Amino acid sequence: MNYGNGLGMAVFASHSALQLVLGGEAQGVRVALFGPQQSLRLYRRFPGIGCELIEYSGPETLERLAERGYVLVPNGSVVEYVGPETLARSSVRVFGSRELLRAEASQSRKMELLRSAGIPTPRTYSSPDEIDGPVIVKFPGAKGGKGYEVTEDPEKVRELLHWAVEKRLAGSPDEVMVQEYLIGTTLYAHYFHSPIHDRTEITGFDIRYESDVDGLRRAPVDVASRYSPTFTVVGNLPVFPRERLLETFLEYGERFVSAVKRELGGKFAGPFCLECVVDRDLNVLAFEFSGRIVAGTNVYLVHGSPYLALYFGRPMTVGERVALELREAQERGALEEVLT
Ligand code: AMP
Repeated sequence: MNYGNGLGMAVFASHSALQLVLGGEAQGVRVALFGPQQSLRLYRRFPGIGCELIEYSGPETLERLAERGYVLVPNGSVVEYVGPETLARSSVRVFGSRELLRAEASQSRKMELLRSAGIPTPRTYSSPDEIDGPVIVKFPGAKGGKGYEVTEDPEKVRELLHWAVEKRLAGSPDEVMVQEYLIGTTLYAHYFHSPIHDRTEITGFDIRYESDVDGLRRAPVDVASRYSPTFTVVGNLPVFPRERLLETFLEYGERFVSAVKRELGGKFAGPFCLECVVDRDLNVLAFEFSGRIVAGTNVYLVHGSPYLALYFGRPMTVGERVALELREAQERGALEEVLT
């Protein structure tokens, strides 16, 4: 890898790109945004974005970025657009764990990892006969919760499993996850694991604003019971959980990092998220994780997260936190600890 021009961050042009570009600038780390022309167009419209824009034309673009000293800072769009398998084969170095990005693509591996971390999770049903309450049916590859179904009816689940195989949404019924639908409030906890400072930091929280499930409660008549609501993410809202919950969240974050290191090759660095429901007794259960920056961290875009002020004395965005870790790792000759 050639760091002749200085270390750089390559970011897919979507998702949390604005935050990463501004964060790189704040820490003096150069950034390249890459993506298809139609994604780059947006970033040309902001005079405040002065970084390099590179068209993505396939895996060779990743090789070119690597040759020029860029490391990939993965976001949700790179996982979706470039794909974890292409990333696994590419020689570009990844900030964080490329193996975790692969695990994230499999619903069953995902839940196994959470369970092996000792984090409470909703029940998974292996047969419709076991269903004794509301369940959420998750098809493989469903984007942003778009195709999910919530039901209490085992017969309906049986139909959905057949339908998913018939429509080739799943190779077999086993690829469809039938999960306990948790009653409570959703809360998405954002973290940053720092090998340089040897700690797992809490960087903030958000709630996803999902269409149409979040709109239905405003409906003047009860349409929810006659309508199958989707969970399409439209945006994110900030939330500040009760202070007593912070310790639980911190413990879960630390357990997650230990499990990733234990199960997936010994190393981990960077942002991640535990997607949780908190029930009426304040039990926290995680139904999902993201092993990279989540778009929910955009709620702190520009002004930065007040939680990071508890570690660094000033608010900071997660984008800047990434650039800071990279810069410090390079200065200490410890880049190997944060890259895979
Ligand atoms: P996911 O794609 O797994 O992040 O889920 C999309 C959305 O579905 C979440 O943001 C939640 O609103 C909802 N959801 C997913 N799993 C569960 C669950 N087990 N219990 C309650 N709500 C869930």
